[in-house]
Amino acid sequence: MGLLDRAGGELTARAEDAEILVVNTCSFIDSAKQESVNTILEMVQHKVANGGKARRLIVAGCLVERYRDEIRRNIPEVDAVVGTGELEAILEAAGLSAPVSPMDSASLFNILVSRAPSAVHQHSHPNEVGAQVEISRTAGQSGSLDAKSSRAEGDLREQQGRFSREHWDGATAALPEYLYSEFTPRILTTPKSSAYIKIAEGCDHPCSFCIIPQLRGKFRSRRLESIVAEAENLIARGVREITLIGQDTTCYGEDLGLKEGLSTLLDSLAVLPGLKWLRFLYAYPNKITTRLLETIARHDTIAKYLDVPLQHASPSVLKRMKRGGTANVFLRLIEKARATVPGIVLRTSFIVGFPGETDEDFAQLCDFVTAAKIDWLGVFSYSDEEGAAAFELGAELKVPKRTIEARRRRLMKLQQKISARAKAEWVGREVDLLVEGESEETELLWQGRTSLHAPEIDGKVLINDFGMHEVLVPGTFYRAEITESHDYDVVARIIE
Ligand code: SF4
Repeated sequence: MGLLDRAGGELTARAEDAEILVVNTCSFIDSAKQESVNTILEMVQHKVANGGKARRLIVAGCLVERYRDEIRRNIPEVDAVVGTGELEAILEAAGLSAPVSPMDSASLFNILVSRAPSAVHQHSHPNEVGAQVEISRTAGQSGSLDAKSSRAEGDLREQQGRFSREHWDGATAALPEYLYSEFTPRILTTPKSSAYIKIAEGCDHPCSFCIIPQLRGKFRSRRLESIVAEAENLIARGVREITLIGQDTTCYGEDLGLKEGLSTLLDSLAVLPGLKWLRFLYAYPNKITTRLLETIARHDTIAKYLDVPLQHASPSVLKRMKRGGTANVFLRLIEKARATVPGIVLRTSFIVGFPGETDEDFAQLCDFVTAAKIDWLGVFSYSDEEGAAAFELGAELKVPKRTIEARRRRLMKLQQKISARAKAEWVGREVDLLVEGESEETELLWQGRTSLHAPEIDGKVLINDFGMHEVLVPGTFYRAEITESHDYDVVARIIE
């Protein structure tokens, strides 16, 4: 979006107004692929409709990495495809290959950039779509490859064929290598006080249910200076909350030769003047070091929040998932996190119905959830993805869909009780509240978040009393008192 904007495009949210349509796709699981294809077909209608303005249809993102040739073959109305490793090709695809000067404000084209599916990553990655679109221009050239290096683990996995797309019809063999930099122009689609920064791309882990490494390529980190410069630019534009993301943030810097790279990065970012909240998502369990926990504890600006997708608690399921670990190992990790960072809030996600998951395995998972008392928890139904190692496991091991859904409901019900008890303890607390605006559920209430709520994914703080204020300003921090609790949400009144 930033590149298109700088090249003279005017972004529009209405497909009817757009001359160029861009569909940004997801290819992680079947339902996301289906949603992506449906959106492309919907946009085709805008292109072929009589009197429609649309002249070009571009498909971008992970569906292109998976089915590059098939998209062109099966949907001839698509004019160009842009994979995740060739972001800058979006300009040529849009027919805007010669960037105009940033000083030239004349808009040449109306462009709709549509994010197709709300991608359901079994890590629960957030999508970066928000209500407000703000232009964030940074001087200098756009970023290409920020660093070229790899981890020994990634090299080994490459030799073992982890990244191979050989059996993927319609995909090219070349893995994406792209990394954006602080010079890449960006449009913020999140509310103005909050921004995500992607610190690394790709993944070297062997999780047998996941095709993200084949889609996104080997793990590679952005330079630390580039991330700090981007954070400074964002803070200068009014951003107060930064959320660091990547497929695995805890490997950050290993390919650059940094030891404890994430802790070093957090130390550099946490002290930036003007930053209020800093957090990172998607930690890998065995990469959470004592130094990382101590870093979280040391800085007031770092949210006392740890997102660590555990995926399961039964050792035999974890082994088949090629992740390792046991319920006891995870319980010890949680205990250490709580001892090192008092008041820390934990988020995790689990997959139920992985091939071979028995009633006994599921019971172990439920026991773990009861013992661990995790604050925010997502449960995903196993999705059998062609190309993932787990897809090849014998048909006799596959768990029936009905059983998967029943287990998902049971685990969510168990968590509902745990969450309700934990939220009841919030009542009476005074908190810093980032007000987001009117509640999504009712116009009678407003909503916000504390530092213990990550954007878009956790419960909410509903506001029913503005205190001395006639109106609240979205994107502003207030002091508030929690007055009521529900299963996942709490209610607050503004006190300052
Ligand atoms: S850590 Fe595992 S689940 Fe997450 S992106 Fe990497 S391979 Fe996929």
